[in-house]
Amino acid sequence: MDGEEFRQRGRQMVDLIVDYVNSFRDRPVVPNVQPGYLRPLIPPEAPQEGESFDKILADIEPVVLAGVTNWHHPNFHAYYPTASSYPAILGDMLSDAIACIGFSWIASPACTELETVMMDWLAKALGLPDHFLFSSGGRGGGVIQGTASEASLMVFLGARNDAIAKLQAAEPQGEPCELLARLVAYTSEEAHSSVERAAKLAFVRIRSLKTDEKHSLRGDALKQAIAEDRAKGLVPILCIATLGTTSSCAFDNVRELGQICNREGLWCHVDAAYAGSALLCPELRNFADGIELADSFNFNPHKWMLVTFDCSALFLRDASKIVEIFSADPIYLKHEFTGQPDYRHWQIPLGRRFRSLKIWFVMRCFGISGLQAYIRKHVSLAKEFEALILADGRFEVVEEVTLGLVCFRLKGTNEATEALYRTLREDQRIHLVASKFHSSGVYFLRFVVCSSQCESKDIRFAHSVIMEAANKLGK
Ligand code: PLP
Repeated sequence: MDGEEFRQRGRQMVDLIVDYVNSFRDRPVVPNVQPGYLRPLIPPEAPQEGESFDKILADIEPVVLAGVTNWHHPNFHAYYPTASSYPAILGDMLSDAIACIGFSWIASPACTELETVMMDWLAKALGLPDHFLFSSGGRGGGVIQGTASEASLMVFLGARNDAIAKLQAAEPQGEPCELLARLVAYTSEEAHSSVERAAKLAFVRIRSLKTDEKHSLRGDALKQAIAEDRAKGLVPILCIATLGTTSSCAFDNVRELGQICNREGLWCHVDAAYAGSALLCPELRNFADGIELADSFNFNPHKWMLVTFDCSALFLRDASKIVEIFSADPIYLKHEFTGQPDYRHWQIPLGRRFRSLKIWFVMRCFGISGLQAYIRKHVSLAKEFEALILADGRFEVVEEVTLGLVCFRLKGTNEATEALYRTLREDQRIHLVASKFHSSGVYFLRFVVCSSQCESKDIRFAHSVIMEAANKLGK
């Protein structure tokens, strides 16, 4: 394909994309396919000779679009949202064309420098403390990771190695492996499973602490755990707090946890994968009270800020704790320039895409006010759904609705809500998932406002489908 054909195919592809995005209401939210549907639709081997792009285009609908779950369908209310917008897609197109591997400043200066400025833009737009900004002139700054899971892993590895270095300074005869066995980290029982996985990958013991009646991890629980573990000879190193838990969008008490971490010498990390984008709106910032006490903070613009996957923003108070510990500097990667980060030291892979372009395009096209309007609209749609649910005495809402998630259930035993969930899955007109609180075992359904196309009529539609299902069950 030469440049002229690319112009033509590019236009065709843009048309296809816009037609797809405009077609959600005519498509099922979950595809009507069975496992194994795809293999018989395409040849078992790659073609020996190149094919015409027309043939490829002809396959997109039957092979691909017929089998995708439409995450941007207005009736998609599962998990948490994943973001998409035309400016972000255009940013990724440009990134694909530049196709650099920005592992160091010289490997592509614009890739590094735009990222540092975008990280500062994000931190300022969210009202994060100055110590996370490059422009504050301290040791802090931000980096784009692929996912919140990677961000947590980086934090675990940084906290682990920092703790081992400190222990070795005090006990020079201590072997790193022996010291490692004494380390312990903390999180809430409602934290995302990626936190537990990060602990496993980092080989650090982790305790999932009990939450209060609002599913929030509080200072007392952390204080007690630290005291218990110190008495056993363990070394507490890290607490991962969650703002916006995956199950129910509960908020750990960052002020209490941060105070204890600062006093006891633990790294305090805040995982705000979904909820972080809401900090764009000053009136929604209460849940992040105490954020200035955190040593690191992570949120996913690819969840709720109209930036396409992957784009997870990690901010560090002292980036040297990661950068210096993981540096490996072979001669072929060295260069003579200083004063800008070499982002390869801030992440696990060497290679990295030019992901800041899509942040730049999105923030400029929407402006902070456009992004705020987007968040506010989703929050208001969630409140509308909550009001509809609460208007029916058979239902209850089991977590305060702060952002775009409504956790609801049929009153009474779990079985009734489990049956409701099965009925909704079979019905397939809307897509949502269920969850359970660790502490109480209470089972509930999660209704999330996800799509940028979701409107009040879609909220009322989803509510009517749920009521129909409840009536069918005779509830
Ligand atoms: N943390 C929280 C609170 C989440 O809700 C999620 C996913 O929904 C994650 C972490 C994992 O996100 P990622 O897929 O970016 O690793």
